[in-house]
Amino acid sequence: MRWNKLFIPTLRATPPAEGPGRALLVRAGYIRPCAGAADAYLPLAQRSFARIARHVHGEMERLGALELGVPAAAHLPLVARGDLRSYKQLPLAWYSLPGRALDACWFAMDAAGVEAWYEKFRQALRRVAESCGLPALSADASRGAIHAEDLVLPLDSGADRLAACPACAWMADWERAAVARPAAAADPDGDFAPEPFPTPGQKTIDEVAQFTGLPATAQMKSLVLIAGQKPVLALVRGDHQLSEAKFAAAVSFIPFRPARPEEIRQWFGADAGSLGPLDSDKHAVRGVSILADFALRGRRNLIAGANRNDTHFRHVTPDEDFSPEWHDLRQAEAADGCPRCGAPVEMRPAIRLAHLAAGHEGEPLDLHVAGAGSREEPVHTGSCQLALDRLLATAAALHYDANGLVWPPAIAPFDVVVTPANYGDAAQRRAADAIYADCLAAGLDALLDDRDERPGVKFKDADLIGIPHRIVVGRKLETGLVEAIARATLQTREFAPADAAAAVRSALAAGQ
Ligand SMILES: [Zn+2]
Repeated sequence: MRWNKLFIPTLRATPPAEGPGRALLVRAGYIRPCAGAADAYLPLAQRSFARIARHVHGEMERLGALELGVPAAAHLPLVARGDLRSYKQLPLAWYSLPGRALDACWFAMDAAGVEAWYEKFRQALRRVAESCGLPALSADASRGAIHAEDLVLPLDSGADRLAACPACAWMADWERAAVARPAAAADPDGDFAPEPFPTPGQKTIDEVAQFTGLPATAQMKSLVLIAGQKPVLALVRGDHQLSEAKFAAAVSFIPFRPARPEEIRQWFGADAGSLGPLDSDKHAVRGVSILADFALRGRRNLIAGANRNDTHFRHVTPDEDFSPEWHDLRQAEAADGCPRCGAPVEMRPAIRLAHLAAGHEGEPLDLHVAGAGSREEPVHTGSCQLALDRLLATAAALHYDANGLVWPPAIAPFDVVVTPANYGDAAQRRAADAIYADCLAAGLDALLDDRDERPGVKFKDADLIGIPHRIVVGRKLETGLVEAIARATLQTREFAPADAAAAVRSALAAGQ
């Protein structure tokens, strides 16, 4: 490919864009932000996607997964429902890769079969990420009955958050991290009955803590949500926050929203700030499901709103005064205990590269085939997704230096760029054309910088777009030499023009 024929609109200055990776992709002419829409991917980016896609196809073939062309990921199970008839067709894995997103799903007659695919896909996606220079880690993203996992990468500019244990390497999605239950607090002992007391104007957890002189940990925080059409009271410890992701799992992913003030008044007879699990008769509130976080289990004589404005109860004991459904509902916090070893966990910024689940998320699939005994039997399924544009952006965020991008060879848009310092010079032009032809003949993806630009501009652009190797045809040609420069190390070696392509090819074969 000749530079003049390719569209590579590089910018001299770094544009304002989120994160170092994105900014570099814009500057190096890979992407352009489209107002109000997703990015436009320019030819260099498309070439990188084609390379990543080649890795994906290779890995899928290795697994024995079959490619289907479908308009959207949701169609894979639909095709299965129409055409999977017998257990003899299973186990089976399908994938589609339209554009920049891999979607795969797999089918088996039992959970073990699904788990086997899950493990194979996990390894395959991990190898794809590694080929992009992204050593992905596994983070547990458990969602109730579905065994799910994300491939993530700790990344300072990443928008996702991980809970990570420095002691045992346990790692989980922060929003769903099942951290250890906090140690039981020293509650007032004794078998007291709930007792109302006035708390005029004291609404927040902090206000009630100051007013009573008791810590926030001695309070139950009451949050009212509407799941489906029904009110749900979610209780967490006063100093804890409700995790929406965990709440969603607790209500089996029924759509939910916070209750409006008038709805709260209708069900509880009081306003937010005075809400709790007991009505004025000290019975559990009627018509409301009560979910409580594990951190409240075993606690005694706590403070909760009395469902009367400006009033709280003291001496409220879960499982005695009311019987909640127990769930893990709270957000993890830094220094919470690791569920595996108990050491304090850390919050780390990260980016999610892929998502895998054993079991089907969302709508039940209701997929059946004829079993061995010719009876209809349910098919077990799993699925995974991988976004190629995210891989590219993350690779850019990790692989760069002061001069621009430094692609891992496996995803670079070209293997080598041939840069004549002066393409107008007949000898340099002849040599550059010959080296370019040698590169193509050697099976390399080569780019020839045939622009009528100053050498400094060409060198800067070559560094910026991050091609792993550059062959410079300059003044040394008079002494029969050209230079080969490795982008990653900036190491320069000299060769006779006829040897340059072979030298680059052997460097690439050695993974450089
Ligand atoms: Zn641990």
